[in-house]
Amino acid sequence: MLRSNGKYGHLIHNAGCSCANLALQQRSHYLSDYSRRNFLRGIGSVAAVGLMPMAGHAQTAIDPSRILFRRAKVFDGKSETLQAGVQVLVEGQKIVAIDKANNPPPDGTTVVDCADGVLMPGMIDAHWHTIYAAVPLQVLLAGDPGIIFAASTAEAERTLMRGFTTVRDLGGPVFTFKQAIDTGLIPGPRIFPAGAMITTSGGHGDLRMPSEIPAREGQLSLSEMMGSAAIVDDVGELKRRVREQLLQGASQVKLVGGGGVSSPRAPLDMTTFSEAEIRAAVDVARDWNTYVTVHAYASNTVQRAIAGGAACVEHAHLMDENTARTFADKSVWLSTQPFLSMDDTGSQTGVGAERAARLFLGTPKIYGYAKKFGIKTAWGSDVLFSPALTSRQNNMLTHLSNWYTNAEALRMATSGNADLLALSNLRTPYAGALGVIQKDALADILVWDGNPLDDFKLVEDPQRNLKVIVKDGRIFKNTL
Ligand SMILES: [Zn+2]
Repeated sequence: MLRSNGKYGHLIHNAGCSCANLALQQRSHYLSDYSRRNFLRGIGSVAAVGLMPMAGHAQTAIDPSRILFRRAKVFDGKSETLQAGVQVLVEGQKIVAIDKANNPPPDGTTVVDCADGVLMPGMIDAHWHTIYAAVPLQVLLAGDPGIIFAASTAEAERTLMRGFTTVRDLGGPVFTFKQAIDTGLIPGPRIFPAGAMITTSGGHGDLRMPSEIPAREGQLSLSEMMGSAAIVDDVGELKRRVREQLLQGASQVKLVGGGGVSSPRAPLDMTTFSEAEIRAAVDVARDWNTYVTVHAYASNTVQRAIAGGAACVEHAHLMDENTARTFADKSVWLSTQPFLSMDDTGSQTGVGAERAARLFLGTPKIYGYAKKFGIKTAWGSDVLFSPALTSRQNNMLTHLSNWYTNAEALRMATSGNADLLALSNLRTPYAGALGVIQKDALADILVWDGNPLDDFKLVEDPQRNLKVIVKDGRIFKNTL
């Protein structure tokens, strides 16, 4: 798992730091305010660290590691133009300097010559399912945690190696999995977790087997016990389940507002929660200083989510123009996916194929509305149930070139998505800016062989074109 050289050289270093020394380091790095905010998370981290192999212990280093990137062309995540001939210094988990100076690096610095390749922030997927993305639905429904978490562990590494250093997870039992990544036990992206998808009976997310219907009083279904879904039909239950996700470390709350494509029993036109119920969840999230996002495709479902106070809506492929206007009027985020064909959703049959076809027709419309009304728009891939599809995560990003310039698309997948993540406010799991190359930002850095602002297709083959991947100041790939 933890290799002593090559791409995980730095992982060993950090794994070695994971006991008392890392705790000391972290105390000196973070503000006390951050420590307080992350008290609960810290308890979880200690539990996860307890699982870690001790083999790397001898390689513990107290000094923070330094990496100097030289001869880089920098896309900072915001500006449309590149800064040429720049060097970027990383110390510990943060970027500490960006300048044109050519000073000799301090002793012990790892120097990376970027050879005029483009250096940019790690990419962010605003709609991801860490536990579901690469696990076939039948395997998931069988509920054997061994195979589910083995597949998700392998996928978390692949996600990172495609250049995604952060994901917003919108459903799945991901809390301790996230801790395993954050503590260096397994490689993977940073995770902003929602935990269980909260739905009514019959909504997208109600994955009960026929034998589990009707619900037995006081008994949870398998998917609820796993933490995949929470099925609630009154306000009291709804508030309790929302609070349970937050107490486990949710950075945002995900409600299922209607039907979906991969849930044949929940038609796309159907709406689940009442406005008052959405409002109740929004109030609880607000009390925890974070926000609610709602899964919604149809206009009426989207409108109800916005009326109930959701700060973000997922998908919205079937909304009409008036509904789109409301996003801009109420300053609500649209987090959506450029689904163009079954290459993006996996092959569907029957009712699934009919529903997917409707989304493909909706995709160009919603990006048209987004541009027309200036809607705050986040990009996400929402890949589900297939390791073959997860490898197309990057293609889902380059689909944006149908409506945006390459720079606009890359900005959406970096600083733009980071602006959405910032809605998590005091429930943000990481201290420091994401999605930007700037002083004091978290050191999540990619270096491409070439310039994706000129040739966006480069992004589709990260294995070949992505030369360096750094997350949290640790080198996970360096082939320069
Ligand atoms: Zn989703």
